[in-house]
Amino acid sequence: MTDRYAVIGNPIGFSKSPLIHGMFAQANGQDIEYTAIEGPLGGFAGAVDAFRTAGGLGLNITAPFKLDAFAYATERSGAQLLAGAANAMKFEGDRVLAENFDGVGLVRDVTHNLGCPLKGKRVLLLGAGGAARGALLPFLEQEPAELVIANRSVDKAHELAAIGARQGRVRGCGYAELEGQTFDVVFNATSASLRAELPPVPATVFANCGLAYELAYAKGLTPFLRLAHNAGVKRLADGVGMLAEQAAEAFAWWRGVRPDTRAVIDKLTVPLV
Ligand code: NDP
Repeated sequence: MTDRYAVIGNPIGFSKSPLIHGMFAQANGQDIEYTAIEGPLGGFAGAVDAFRTAGGLGLNITAPFKLDAFAYATERSGAQLLAGAANAMKFEGDRVLAENFDGVGLVRDVTHNLGCPLKGKRVLLLGAGGAARGALLPFLEQEPAELVIANRSVDKAHELAAIGARQGRVRGCGYAELEGQTFDVVFNATSASLRAELPPVPATVFANCGLAYELAYAKGLTPFLRLAHNAGVKRLADGVGMLAEQAAEAFAWWRGVRPDTRAVIDKLTVPLV
């Protein structure tokens, strides 16, 4: 019997996950069906119950349900406990295992696909929402010289830095405090780009920057990437590789085979400049 998986979100029409997992399954000879479910707002648990009753084995979770998935799980991993959110679930009888592969996928894209190790680097992370929380531990595991988290609501940046303080050198701040500081790698994990807005980051942070990474994908040259480009940053990337890598992690977790992501990244890449 064909094994069933899906992505759940609201809205869900934009999701690339069915395409990605379809390509992974075909390339790896895996007999799976992967669909998209538009979960009703406030009705996440009921939609997941129905999917499990129909024999579903696993779900990817996207906005706005990552916190609901965290609550629904019966077993949670360290990474998603820190993130407070889950982006993948696996069903084994009564057990509901949950994971968060966003941060691991991001690090894999940066270090493996883009060939940019974070070890010993000064890293700036803009934003302190779900994606930034997911990235915190995987970033610190790479042993950067320092991780600075800047956020519009400064208390959230301080809170996140405090969570990571035992794992490495990490500091939270507001945007104004970035004046006069430079970084080797700068990540935009704010959602500003989804509305074509620019987080108030001073262009001077890019003075010695080797890579500017926009977590949003398929948006082309976002205001953040444009600022970095104009400041002379040679290497620009968006989150398409992160998307492919987190999907590959989930696929491997469910199926025991880690797919190669190159064909997916090539298919989904939108030129940046
Ligand atoms: P959240 O809603 O959880 O967090 C949003 C963050 O953006 C907050 O820190 C918020 O600051 C900040 N923010 C929003 N607007 C502005 C602005 N105009 N100026 C400055 N800061 C702003 O979003 P997520 O963490 O889930 O998503 C963040 C980004 O990551 C999105 O672009 C999303 O598409 C991308 N993403 C990409 C993935 C991939 O696979 N490539 C996976 C997951 C996310 P404040 O706290 O002050 O409100």
